[in-house]
Amino acid sequence: MINRITLTELFLQLLKKNIVPLSILPEIALFITNRKEFLRLTVQDEQFTEIQALFRDNNVSFSVKKIYSVYRGNTWYDIKFENQICDIDKEHIHYVRYLVCCTLGNNDPNTVLKAEEEGRIDDAGSLLGYPKCCINAIDELNNSGLKWPLLLMQKTKDQPNSYVNRLASVWGGTSFTGELFPCSLNCKNAIELGKSAEAALWELGLNRLAREIQYLSQRPIVVNKVNGNVQPLNETTINDLNLELQVPVFFK
Ligand SMILES: [Zn+2]
Repeated sequence: MINRITLTELFLQLLKKNIVPLSILPEIALFITNRKEFLRLTVQDEQFTEIQALFRDNNVSFSVKKIYSVYRGNTWYDIKFENQICDIDKEHIHYVRYLVCCTLGNNDPNTVLKAEEEGRIDDAGSLLGYPKCCINAIDELNNSGLKWPLLLMQKTKDQPNSYVNRLASVWGGTSFTGELFPCSLNCKNAIELGKSAEAALWELGLNRLAREIQYLSQRPIVVNKVNGNVQPLNETTINDLNLELQVPVFFK
């Protein structure tokens, strides 16, 4: 089996070449340290050949499906498989990408993609190691469209936790739960997953990247109460802050 150092180098290469975003790094760390059986990546059309060659050369077993990203606004996309695209969607296709699922074990990575294609989100989510409470909440979040940040805030009863700061991704930051859509901004199960990812990053010696993710996840933000628009709270936004319309959010 491919050793951990080579594997870490392989994925860091993907990060350096911008083939994968920083937000997926916590999941990569969980995957390399065997805390996660399957890793699912979205790869741009033109970079697929490169990733395919890298995985083949390094004996990483993977499966692939072409997907279409249909833009609905405010960083929210509907991800659709080829057979799910209807006529209205065709006008809003933002990009075509490849959905790649890989594994280091003996299980078939296609089971994840097949579950997703068939709309069995619970199965796909649990194969990917996401908490059940968060998987169950995804439909509601999906249906809230552009206002998903507001719904996530409504569902957060206590102080938001930086480990599940999914809103950071809207302004270009990230958190230790990366691309997971949590059921709230302080979901206990998601916090646990985030802490596990942080430990995995440290275990791989990626301390500086872990600190960067921590910094990004702890930055306060401003959310627009009407449209759910998210911005980081900084010198510029604090001067224009309108409390009637905007709510500052702090993460512990
Ligand atoms: Zn949850």
